[in-house]
Amino acid sequence: MTYNLIIDGAAVPTESHLDVVNPATGRPFARCPAGTPADLDRAVEAARRAFPAWAAKPDAERKAAVAALADIIEANLPELAELVTREQGKPLGGFGSQWEIGGAAAWTRFTAGLDLPVEYIQDDEQGRVALHRKPIGVVGSITPWNFPVMIAIWHIMPALRAGNTVVLKPSPYTPIATLRLAELLQQALPPGVLNAVAGPDEIGRAMSSHPGIDKIVFTGSTRTGKHVMASAADTLKRLTLELGGNDAAIVLPDVDLDTAVEKIFWGAFLNNGQTCAAIKRLYVHDSIHDALCERLAAYAATVRTGDGMAADSQLGTIQNRMQFDRVSKLVDAARADGVRVLCGGAPIEGDGLFYPVTLLADAKEGMAIVDEEQFGPALPILRYSDVDDAVARANDNPNGLGGSVWSSDPDAALAIASRLECGSVWINSHAMVRPDAPFGGVKQSGIGVEFGTLGLAEFTTVQVIHQ
Ligand code: NAD
Repeated sequence: MTYNLIIDGAAVPTESHLDVVNPATGRPFARCPAGTPADLDRAVEAARRAFPAWAAKPDAERKAAVAALADIIEANLPELAELVTREQGKPLGGFGSQWEIGGAAAWTRFTAGLDLPVEYIQDDEQGRVALHRKPIGVVGSITPWNFPVMIAIWHIMPALRAGNTVVLKPSPYTPIATLRLAELLQQALPPGVLNAVAGPDEIGRAMSSHPGIDKIVFTGSTRTGKHVMASAADTLKRLTLELGGNDAAIVLPDVDLDTAVEKIFWGAFLNNGQTCAAIKRLYVHDSIHDALCERLAAYAATVRTGDGMAADSQLGTIQNRMQFDRVSKLVDAARADGVRVLCGGAPIEGDGLFYPVTLLADAKEGMAIVDEEQFGPALPILRYSDVDDAVARANDNPNGLGGSVWSSDPDAALAIASRLECGSVWINSHAMVRPDAPFGGVKQSGIGVEFGTLGLAEFTTVQVIHQ
C-alpha cells in the first residue's frame, strides 16, 4: 500500500517513495511518500496560513477539538496498532502497539484538559501586571522510530492545545502509522493546522533551519539533537530536545526481590530496550548480586520474543538493521572484554531482526555497552559494594534522562534518588512516565520538558502586560 503526505488538509502524493520494511520479515510492506524540501515549504506555508485563525479560537473550542482527536485515535486503535506492529516490530499485545495507541489516546485526552491561565504578578489599586501565554507559531515536530505514534502525540497535542499549528516529520523507518494518524486527525481540524511530511533525514535538516518554523520539538539521538540545535541557531527557534539516555538503576541490599525482579526486567526490556528512559545499566549490591542475576535470568526465560502479530509474543524485533548490528557488536565486544552472558548473547537466525533478551553480568565501566546507550535488548549488570561508589558511577555519564533506586526503605531510597543526576527518578519502578508529570533530560539528555502544564508552557511564549 502507498501512503501520502498530508498538507493543508489534503492527501498529497509524491513522485518517489521509500520502502518501509517490516523488521519481523525483512520485507517491505508499505511505500512511504518521499517528501522533498519543496513539499516541506508547502506544508510550512499551509501551517502559517492556518495559524492566525487557530490561535484566535476561544480556548474552549481548541480544548474540544483536541478532545475530539482523542476520540478519533481511540476509534481507530486496531488499525493504528497493526501499522505500528508491522513497521516497528513490537507486539500487538503486552506493552506493545495496542498499549502505545491506547496511551496516545489517553495522553491526548489529558492534554486537551490542561490550562495555562493568566498569572497576576500584581493586581491592586496601584496597577496590574499580568503574565499571558501566547502560542509560538508553526511548530516543527521530528520523531524517532521507537514509539512512533506515542511520541508524535507528545509533540502534536500540547502544540495544538496551546494554539500553534504543526508540521510533523516521522522517522523514515516508521512513517506509516504517523501518516495515517495525521490523515485521520484531519476530520477534527481545519486545513493546515496539522501537516505531515515524511521523507529522508534531509527533511529534518531542512526543518531545523526553516525560516517559517518557529519552534522545533525533537525526540531522537543526542548526536542528531546537537545538529538540530546548531541549525536552529540562525533563526533562533525555540527548542525542546528529548535525547538519548543511559539510565542507571541502583539496587540496594534490602530490596524485596520477590516484587522487584519482574519490574526491573520490564524497566530494562520495555519495547526491547528501545526506550529512551529504560534501565540501561543495572548496579547491584554484592550481597544480592548473584540472587538477582539468577532470578532475572529465570524470569527472562519465560518471556517470548517473536513476530509482533503473533498473539503470544511479548517482545518483538529490533526495529532496523543498523540498530540490530550495533547491539550485536556491543554484546560481542563486551563478551570479548570478559562479561558473563547469563542468557541470549547472539542474534536469532532468520529473516527478521530478532535478538534474544541478553543479560550480561560482570560488566564494567569502560565497556561500550556500559558507557554508551545500547538501545536494545541487552542489559549490563554491574556490581557495587559501597552505595556512594554506585551513585558516583551512575552519575559519571554525559546522559541524564532517568534513573531508579530499588529498596524496601523509602527514606533511604529517596535520599539516594535525589543525588542522581537525571530528570526523572523512580523508586521501585522505572520508565513510568505519565501525562501530568514533567519529563525531560538533564546534561546531554535534552533541553526542556514534556507533559503537564510545564510541558504545555514550552509551546508558548510569555507576554507580560503592565497596566
Ligand atoms: P535519530 O536521531 O537518528 O532520528 C530522529 C529523527 O531525526 C528522525 O525523524 C530522523 O529522520 C531525523 N533526523 C536525522 N538527521 C537529522 C538532522 N540532521 N536534522 C534533523 N532531523 C534529523 O534517532 P532514532 O535513532 O530515530 O531514535 C533513537 C534515539 O532517540 C535514542 O537515542 C533514544 O534514546 C532517543 N529517544 C529519546 C526520547 C526522550 O524522550 N528523551 C524518547 C525516545 C527516543
